[in-house]
Amino acid sequence: MTEPATDRKAPIFDVQSFSIHDGPGIRTTVFFKGCPLDCVWCHNPESKRAEPQLIYYKNRCTGCLLCVETCKTGAQIILPGGAHGVIHEKCTLCGKCIKVCCYEAVKISGKIYSPEELYDRIKSDIRYFALETGGERGGITFSGGEPLQYADFIKNFCSLIPGVHTAMDTSGSGDIKDFEKIIDCIDLFLFDIKAINSIEHKKFCGADNNKIFQNLKYLCKNKKDIILRLPIVPGINDTKEYFDGISEFLTKYPHIKHAEILPYHNYGLAKAEGLGLKIPAELPPLNTGKETVEKWLGEFAKRGMDNVRCSQ
Ligand code: SF4
Ligand code: SF4
Ligand code: SF4
Repeated sequence: MTEPATDRKAPIFDVQSFSIHDGPGIRTTVFFKGCPLDCVWCHNPESKRAEPQLIYYKNRCTGCLLCVETCKTGAQIILPGGAHGVIHEKCTLCGKCIKVCCYEAVKISGKIYSPEELYDRIKSDIRYFALETGGERGGITFSGGEPLQYADFIKNFCSLIPGVHTAMDTSGSGDIKDFEKIIDCIDLFLFDIKAINSIEHKKFCGADNNKIFQNLKYLCKNKKDIILRLPIVPGINDTKEYFDGISEFLTKYPHIKHAEILPYHNYGLAKAEGLGLKIPAELPPLNTGKETVEKWLGEFAKRGMDNVRCSQ
């Protein structure tokens, strides 16, 4: 049985130490599982559902078929022709195949943590946060999925790490009352803007962006440190309308520290296949090229904005 998430527990699918792309300095990034959006380009598709899921890494599988002998539900199978396959719908997450696979080709993504268990997991990283990189100290970043869904958990967890710099990487999709809960314990918001046009946002991310902009305005009004994150996805949002909207925001809210372009990459594709998910038809086959990034950085420069950079 899967343990339900509560105020005292939350599902987490990864904890990455020594992260340098999720805020200032050397950081530990905690990836929560579960998201109210459904972006077609999601690079962490295992983060969309809150429940644990079986992931099969086809590129690691040697076809030894030990898991087929072990699995009693018929989820691990031999395909016509003799190769190994997985029927995700039949998996009960018993974990037996993971114990017999010597190649780490199967894994259960998602584990329920209490704030104290998460603290035990990250406590040895805290000493590295004091080391400066680029003149800045590090800290903890809450990412996902959508960490805002676990506002109570995060508030509890932050009470265990006084003095540690905290960042939240958020789609901004959620209730303002959740932002109200964590506004005093988060030092920096890495706030994604995926589309300016609400209809496009609904089409590609599964919900409109009205609340997202309200929430961003709330953070601006409260003078929080904000970095806008701009995922650039070829054929979807690399448009003038998008960049005009971002320019307007940066002009209207000058205390936003800066904006970061996040070039799209298709790493999520293999993970989506490994989760047994249908690949969205709109998913761009190409990564965002250097030329596209330079083009949009040039557009911002022409508008006199030197506060936009590329995150990589
Ligand atoms: S045990 Fe691992 S390597 Fe062997 S067939 Fe199963 S998934 Fe592939
Ligand atoms: S976790 Fe259990 S049920 Fe799921 S595929 Fe592995 S052995 Fe089968
Ligand atoms: S908001 Fe982020 S985690 Fe959620 S579906 Fe979109 S890209 Fe994935």
